[in-house]
Amino acid sequence: MNGADGQQQGKKVIAYFSMEVGISHTMPTYSGGLGILAGDTLKSFADIGLPVIGVTLLNEKGYFFQTIDENGWQREQPFNWNPHERLVPLPNIITVHIEGRPVQVRAWKHLIHGVKGNSLPVYFLDTNIDGNTDHDRTLTKHLYGGDRRYRLSQEIILGIGGTRMLQSLGYHDIKKYHMNEGHAALLAVELYKNVCDRDAEAVRKKCVFTTHTPVAAGHDRFDEPLFDQVIGGKDYIPGEVYERIVEDGKVNMTLLGLHLSGHVNGVAKRHGEVSKHMFPGHHIDAITNGIHHLTWAAPAFQELYDKHLPDWRTDPYSFRNALSIKSEELQAAKEAAKRKLINEVNRRTNAGFDHRRFTIGYARRFTTYKRPGLLLFDLERLKRVAENVGDVQVIFAGKAHTQDQRGKELIQEVWQAAREVNAQGGKLKMVFLEHYDMELAKTMIAGCDVWLNNPQRPYEASGTSGMKAALNATPQLSTLDGWWLEGHIEGVTGWKIGPAPKEQGYEQDPTPDDEADELYRKLEETIIPLYYGDKHEWARVMKHCIAINASFFNTYRMVQQYLATTYQD
Ligand SMILES: *Cc1c(COP(=O)(O)O)cnc(C)c1O
Repeated sequence: MNGADGQQQGKKVIAYFSMEVGISHTMPTYSGGLGILAGDTLKSFADIGLPVIGVTLLNEKGYFFQTIDENGWQREQPFNWNPHERLVPLPNIITVHIEGRPVQVRAWKHLIHGVKGNSLPVYFLDTNIDGNTDHDRTLTKHLYGGDRRYRLSQEIILGIGGTRMLQSLGYHDIKKYHMNEGHAALLAVELYKNVCDRDAEAVRKKCVFTTHTPVAAGHDRFDEPLFDQVIGGKDYIPGEVYERIVEDGKVNMTLLGLHLSGHVNGVAKRHGEVSKHMFPGHHIDAITNGIHHLTWAAPAFQELYDKHLPDWRTDPYSFRNALSIKSEELQAAKEAAKRKLINEVNRRTNAGFDHRRFTIGYARRFTTYKRPGLLLFDLERLKRVAENVGDVQVIFAGKAHTQDQRGKELIQEVWQAAREVNAQGGKLKMVFLEHYDMELAKTMIAGCDVWLNNPQRPYEASGTSGMKAALNATPQLSTLDGWWLEGHIEGVTGWKIGPAPKEQGYEQDPTPDDEADELYRKLEETIIPLYYGDKHEWARVMKHCIAINASFFNTYRMVQQYLATTYQD
């Protein structure tokens, strides 16, 4: 049936829409956490064998390929890959209107194969076809590229185009439309107008919305004049919907998602609470994120788990049994993963890292609230810790959004600090690795001894890299925000920086000085002495990461929670 996947035919399907979907580092159709979560979610649906389909944009030139120039400044190259290697183009073509012009959209299909042999189709929408203007052919090229007009055009293609494409592909019985973030929210308007006969309740029965950020600037908003011009404003969106989604002269896609969804959820318990304060009057639940265990277990750990927890592939709840793994075997797996990482560092940077030294990893998007430079707040003190307590190696990686100048400066500051530190040749070594992607993430997360995360609260909605770390026996050291409020047990699954949040608000948060001070003290007094001084105790922490956190913070558990709550009628 027209490119739709046979296995889903005739079933009530769940359609999962996301601006980005990260499936593999060989398909650069993602930028970071949001897209990788979408990919991990779809993979777990495939593992369980549920009738789910994914919809996203082709993102033909990816997000970007990152290089760092000799001054430490981020350079952005288009990411060249060949979609034909991973995707199959389909003959179906549908039309959307952008600035009054008809724009034709086609789709490519990729099948995700689940662990028990089920397959799940993901449709990648593409406007780069004959008949479209040169400009319109670029609309599905760059993930988060271009200006606001470009972004809105992409959201029309994703939300409206995606809904029409599913109809063209023969999916006539869609039980739920899941909007992964506001980028896809226009699908709800399409349903309201063209499927549900302007019955808002009927649309809400069909729609699920996940909000992903407590950062106000992270919510998608468009100036009214631009919005009206690009989408046809009140001509396209019925007035009774339009008036609900405009705030201060801007059309807010999060409000659209909230208004027309029957279920709304945040991505960690704390984030659910913060979101309720941001959007009073809306019912917002929380389902804490997870990661796809089969994607994120490094080869050495896959072998270990195959031997000791034979059901782990189909049943990641088996990780609770990790305490039964012998310390020596766990340490051997970690050493193999660490050698791989250290070899990669030395191959790329010639920094002379050593797998016997304590190694901290920090990799995420470089942006102000994530405070990538907190560890460098007092570099002299960090050097003293390394001299006095034991060698320290630090590995940084991450991209800054193309329009985020401050994010790029943060990369530069880390890059320059690393250069100075290494030139001095002491017991502290530091590198910044270019082009953080899913492959480098897996290598770093499994190979480090501690995974560092120090966002300013309450801005980390969830975070997922610390979950990937737990799966690979890497304890996290983090401020108490996002998922870490649920996964942290001091000295058992990792360590915290700073206090727990107050019931409401964060006005009494510690200053960066206080938090940097606590970060150094934790390293100096607790973590590094434990690492060098007590291998057995360290192995106990590693085991608890797996048993307590990997067994829970996975998408296998997460999608079952979606099924039990948001996907019910
Ligand atoms: C997991 C992952 C992320 C998201 O991790 P956070 O903890 O949310 O920062 C970003 N980029 C890559 C490549 C990842 O693998």
